[in-house]
Amino acid sequence: MTKRGKLAVLGSINADHILNLAQFPRPGETVIGKQYEVAYGGKGANQAVAAGRAGADVTFVACIGSDDIGRQMRQQFNRDGINVTTIEEVEGEATGVALIYVNKEGENIIGIYAGANGALTPERVQKQWQIIAQADALLMQLESPIESVQLAAEIAVKNRCKVILNPAPAAKLSDKLLALVDIITPNETEAQTLTGIDVSDDNGAALAAAALHKKGIATVIITLGNRGAWLSEGGKGKKIAGFKVSAVDTIAAGDTFNGALITALLEAQPLDEAIIFAHAAAAIAVTRSGAQPSVPRREEIDRFLQ
Ligand code: ADP
Repeated sequence: MTKRGKLAVLGSINADHILNLAQFPRPGETVIGKQYEVAYGGKGANQAVAAGRAGADVTFVACIGSDDIGRQMRQQFNRDGINVTTIEEVEGEATGVALIYVNKEGENIIGIYAGANGALTPERVQKQWQIIAQADALLMQLESPIESVQLAAEIAVKNRCKVILNPAPAAKLSDKLLALVDIITPNETEAQTLTGIDVSDDNGAALAAAALHKKGIATVIITLGNRGAWLSEGGKGKKIAGFKVSAVDTIAAGDTFNGALITALLEAQPLDEAIIFAHAAAAIAVTRSGAQPSVPRREEIDRFLQ
């Protein structure tokens, strides 16, 4: 059996309200939707689930509100093989919510209410320091308070736990935080926000990666949607193509990529192979609708890669 390293994921949990419509409404316009569903989402949760279903040993540090949807989600994470004892229920708060429009091209527009995710304070992170200290890797995103992300990264670095940051949603970040990151995985928009460099071609990706290396990050992986990903490490950059599939919606594509990537790395797969594994998982996810419902299990990823 493959030896698995331990993974800590710190991040958000959201109930996704997804409305499919022919086209996005413009300001002042009302568009009648074609289909509506509530699905489990949140970048932290999606990435924890993607790692759990791909076979990682995951502990998820997060907060839910004192409501049924939060408790149902926690039960589902447990069924996905995730250690949920570190998910705290916050009295008087609602579980985070995302309102998602999907158009007929499969593109999405998202508005978020943080709810209990905002209660994942540095004090709460400090309480879980041992989980991070004992992990081999810590995976985070930016839907949690930034001081908490900073503190968790500091605890990880002190304890030789690798820090993987998916800098989503797009935000400018301090040099102090970037200096603690081992692997960063922005998409094109996020890479541009972080560096100010246009990442619409390979040259732009190489320049943005160089700017991130300068901040002290050893490995930069810029995901390029259906074009794959740009990998930059050790002074070399190259594109690793993804898989051609017919996309239904790209919700959680990046999250699935990140969860699967770290799972493969914790199994000591070489970086190139880990990226191909992550491409396969994400390609399966885009052929289905919703966030966590679209995240594949290990058997499906292995079958896809055969
Ligand atoms: P995000 O979802 O964070 O915006 P990307 O759009 O860059 O990130 O997608 C992340 C990964 O998901 C890509 O690197 C690729 O592996 C996969 N992916 C995204 N869109 C598609 C697509 N249309 N077809 C196949 N794979 C896709």
